[in-house]
Amino acid sequence: MSVPCVRVPREEGEATRQALADLDLLDDAHDITVEGDRLYIPVSEPTAVPAEFDVVTHDAPERDRQTLPADILGWEPSYERLGDIVVLDEDDPERAREAARAIAESAIPAKTVVNRASPIEGELRIRRWDVLHGEDTETVHREYGCAFALDIAEVYFSPRLATERHRVVEQVEPDERFFDMFAGVGPFVIPAAKRGAECVGVDLNEVAVGYLRENAERNGVADRVTAIAGDVRGVEGYDDWADRLVMNLPHSADEFLDAAVALAGDDCTLHYYDIQHESDPFGPGERAIRAAAEDEYDVEVLERREVRSYAPHELNVCLDVRLYRT
Ligand code: SAM
Repeated sequence: MSVPCVRVPREEGEATRQALADLDLLDDAHDITVEGDRLYIPVSEPTAVPAEFDVVTHDAPERDRQTLPADILGWEPSYERLGDIVVLDEDDPERAREAARAIAESAIPAKTVVNRASPIEGELRIRRWDVLHGEDTETVHREYGCAFALDIAEVYFSPRLATERHRVVEQVEPDERFFDMFAGVGPFVIPAAKRGAECVGVDLNEVAVGYLRENAERNGVADRVTAIAGDVRGVEGYDDWADRLVMNLPHSADEFLDAAVALAGDDCTLHYYDIQHESDPFGPGERAIRAAAEDEYDVEVLERREVRSYAPHELNVCLDVRLYRT
């Protein structure tokens, strides 16, 4: 069976296996394989593997001593992992309960198993959960070499956006001024600070801002991160400041474009997230940005990107836009 693996020279095998074990990234359901002078170490969350490792897809035999949920259930439950919490995506409550029992009995390390009990809702973009196994909803999730403490009952966090966040963060230059207007627990801010940027993260959710501060400490970047609790439209002291702005509040980012223009410096890249009908996914955002910025800036769309399907006929998209002051 083909699974994500870290490929290393044999002589680096044990050190790499230990490093991945420390990060809780080993896939215990598959065996390590050797091919020529290379070792293939199966990993559970490929997007969380630090960039210094080479992640490839490779055949790895299943470990027969490991029991997986599907072995117990006879069907494959739909779930994702957030640290040591397993998040189910089951519409039928009885199926969800069965899946939670099987996951708890299986080899998957799961402190808590939850199922979605509501859509993401409200200003703070939080979901309600049915806690089906365990009780603790706080965890530490790892993504691209960063560790994020968070409580899924108190803050927004989506592991599905890991690749998209990485795409944005890879553009960050050392010493640039990076401003995340809806920062959550810091999944953009922390890796941007790790690249050497001076970062500001704002969020209305005080609990999320508490985690953002904790995560800045945890990842060794507290000296480059300013965390502010409150409505970003009321934040003072950062007019004309930002070299890069992130706006990940897809349903209502357009209401914050005046604030974004006030924060933007003379040459600023804006990453604007939106959810729109597939018939015109980029048009509404682009028109809103031009209307807000064109009095002061030349507006150049650098990239129109489909991030993921959000609902039938609706797309989550990102516009990368450069604003040059005229
Ligand atoms: N950027 C984070 C991430 O990718 O995980 C969080 C994104 S989440 C979709 C949007 C965040 O915006 C939530 O944490 C919410 O609390 C925050 N928010 C909503 N309205 C806000 C406002 N007026 N000012 C600042 N933050 C706000």
